[in-house]
Order: sequence, then structure tokens, then C-alpha cells
Amino acid sequence: MSEKFDVIVVGAGPAGTACAYTCAKNGLKVLQIERGEYPGSKNVMGGVLYRKQTEEIIPEFWKEAPLERPIIEQRFWMMDKESTVSFGYKGLEWGVEPYNNFTVLRAHFDQWFAKKGVEEGVLLINETVVTECIVEDGKVIGVRTDRPDGEIFADVVVLADGVNSLLAKQLGFHNELKPDQVALTAMEVINLPKDKINDRFNLQENQGCTIEIFGDSTKGNLGTAFIYTNKESINIGVGTTLSSMIKAKMKPYELLDYLKNHPMVAPLLAGGESTEYLAHLIPEGGFRAVPKVAGNGVVVIGDAAQLVNAIHREGSNMAMASGKMAAEAVIHAKERNDYSETSLNSYREALYASSIMKDLEKYKDAAHLFESSPQYFKEYVPMMNQAMSKFFTVDGTPKKEKQKQIIKGFTSERGTFGVMKDLYRAWKAVK
Ligand code: FAD
Repeated sequence: MSEKFDVIVVGAGPAGTACAYTCAKNGLKVLQIERGEYPGSKNVMGGVLYRKQTEEIIPEFWKEAPLERPIIEQRFWMMDKESTVSFGYKGLEWGVEPYNNFTVLRAHFDQWFAKKGVEEGVLLINETVVTECIVEDGKVIGVRTDRPDGEIFADVVVLADGVNSLLAKQLGFHNELKPDQVALTAMEVINLPKDKINDRFNLQENQGCTIEIFGDSTKGNLGTAFIYTNKESINIGVGTTLSSMIKAKMKPYELLDYLKNHPMVAPLLAGGESTEYLAHLIPEGGFRAVPKVAGNGVVVIGDAAQLVNAIHREGSNMAMASGKMAAEAVIHAKERNDYSETSLNSYREALYASSIMKDLEKYKDAAHLFESSPQYFKEYVPMMNQAMSKFFTVDGTPKKEKQKQIIKGFTSERGTFGVMKDLYRAWKAVK
């Protein structure tokens, strides 16, 4: 194929499809290339899809998209070996239009989303790997694929090839990802009858909930676990930074087994049938890991640009928003017939002015702090559980005495100054 396109989008995840869809809707000639058998076949996500950024691309998408459940409750567990301190929010307003967020199964959602792009005119080719960008005089002018005669040309190539973007690396936009910049996460989809899910999670028809779990879910290492409810299945997963996994000599599937058998978790899954096992990297380097995102004839979006806010488990929304911003930059570039880095930098400017980069900047020191200070997950979570157990046990001890014992419990481990310092550093990292 030697046909020339306005845009070639590499990857059909949420970033690539948001970009391809927006470009095609605005009259551009778009080719989207996906290595998987179909969009979603290679994609992994805990499962929370955010309404706002999806709606900005396809208004009222919830009326036709293959969604699982609207999320009406978000729970957080700080879990020890046989206990958990929990908090969260449940709001019935999230269960009615326009809803807040949804659980999805990516294999279904991504196919539907990509089909919307095709309906706008995107030419989608599956089962094709882009092996490299074609560069001429310092400008990306197309891509080489693994198909015979697989060179294809375009004014702009959009790299939406996910977390370990080999193509962005080939262009020198970023280096090899470091083990503390990515989390390795394993997850399973476990089938359970709808009624059992509703009973166990205290939900009604068309209501969903999420549980994020810290502490013993990762054996005290930096990372989190999650349990999300689908219509007739549960997504359960756990991940830590690759560096923590290497340091603690843990394997992702062992950690997932440990979580599934944890006494706080096992009753929620009892009788379920595991139907899918998946493992994937998540870019967690944050603000400082974001590479160069625009060059001559090329832009980088979504996970390929490391756009994930691990603290708020936001990724698909950032992928879609960056895809849309990149599309807008490409559309303007076409109007000016200028595909230079200077022209495409309007995408970078929009990205850095948006809440995506503002949020990543806000948490720019958090990952490093929690990585270098294991006490937050290893020591404070058990201490909080012990404190709550003491506080709520009615054993005749006067409450004032109990309070003293609780404070002593914290300070005897870390020292008064140590606790104050940890609190201050944590506050500073997330303020
Ligand atoms: P991807 O979805 O990874 O898509 C990249 C696509 O490019 C893939 O389809 C791939 O096959 C294709 N591709 C790669 N290389 C090539 C090539 N050379 N040629 C052709 N095609 C190629 N985010 C949330 O918002 N909510 C969550 O609950 C959530 N939970 C998560 C849980 C886990 C376990 C993981 C791993 C991630 C989670 N995320 C979550 C993050 C979210 O999945 C990503 O941020 C999002 O998928 C990024 O979208 P993307 O389009 O940039 O990349």
C-alpha cells in the first residue's frame, strides 16, 4: 500500500481511537493500525471508564456503548492480615443520567469505540504491527509495518501504541522505562451470578462499586489492589512498581493468588469462575516521565506519553483527552499545511494547560516518596488497623487512656518526630 493519508494512528486503545475518531469526524483521511486481532483484544484495564472525557468525544455514549455498571460507590480499604479500615462514598446520584463513571470490559468497549471511528470514515487495519516510523530529513513521513510492501505515508503519525512505546523510543523521545516508573499488574475476570454480586456488594440492579485496597493486598509494598463489579463478573487485580516487585522477589500471579485467598477478599469471590487472566504494565513515572510529545510530523498520546495518574487510577480518560487534543492540533496543522514540530506543539501546549498535566504535576513527588519510604504501606496500615481495633473494643478502659495507648502505638514504632515528619512529607507530596 503506498497510498498517502492525512493521519496514521498507531494503536486502537482509547487514545488512538479518540484521536482517529476526532480527525475523521473533521474530514481528515485517517488510517488506524492495530496489532491485535481486534481493538481491545490486547488491552488491559481494571475497568473504570470516566464519563466526562468519553462524553466529550461521543455525547450520551452510555445510551449505546457496551458498559457494565454505573459506579455508585467507591470504597477504600487499608487492609491488614485479618482486618481492614475502610472509608468511601456512595451516592445514588451517580446511578442516574448523566451518571459519573462506569465499569467496562475493554474487549467489548474498545471494539465499539473503534467502530464509531470506522463509521466516521477511519480505515482500521487489525493484526498489523507498525515496526518503525519512516523518517526523512528529520521529519516523520509514514510508518513501516510487518505486512509485505507495508510502507504507508501520512502528513502526521500519531503514536498511541501504549505504555512501552517502542516507536517513541526509536525516535529518541524517551529512554528505556526504569523499574520505578512502571507498575506490573495482574488481574482476573471472575464470573459470578448477578444476584450474588448485588448481595455481596450491597448493590441493586444497574449499580456498581469499586474497592481500592492498600496494605496487605501488596504484602505491604508500594502498590494497590482493586475489585470492580461488572454485570455478571468481578475484575480483581493487584500491582506494584516493577522495582518493588524485584526488591521483594514477588511474582504478579503469586500476589494475585495471595489477594484472592485473603480472608477479607475470599468471601466476595466464593463460587466464582475465573475466565480471564491478564497482566500488563502501567506507566507510573508521573509528571517527570512524560516524554517529548510532539515532533516533526509526529505526536505521542495516552500511555505512550506516560499519561497516567496512578493515585487516582486515571488513565483511559487521559488517553482519550490527549487523543482529542492531538487531533485538534493535527486539524489546525492541516489548515495551515504545516506539520512541523512548532506547529504540532499546539498539542503540547494544550496538554500542559489541561488538568492532565496539572494533576500529574501536583503529584510529581508522591511516587518517589512512597517508593523510598516503605513505612507508609508496611507500618502505618497495620498501625491504623490496630488503633481502630483498640478504639472500637469496649473493654472497660477509659477512652482517654485508649487514646493515649493509640498515640503511643504510633510513636513507639516511628518516634514522635518520625511520625510528624512522615505526616508532613505525605501531606507535602499530595497537597
Ligand atoms: P492502550 O490501551 O495500551 O492501547 C495501545 C494499543 O496499541 C493496543 O491496542 C496495542 O495492541 C496497540 N499497539 C501497540 N504497539 C503497536 C504497534 N507497534 N503496532 C500496532 N499496534 C500497536 N485506567 C482507567 O482509566 N481506569 C482503570 O480502572 C484502569 N485500570 C487499569 C488496570 C490495569 C491492570 C492496567 C494495566 C491499566 C489500567 N488503567 C486504568 C490504565 C489504562 O488501561 C490505560 O491508561 C489506557 O488503556 C491507555 O490507553 P492507550 O490507548 O494509550 O493505550
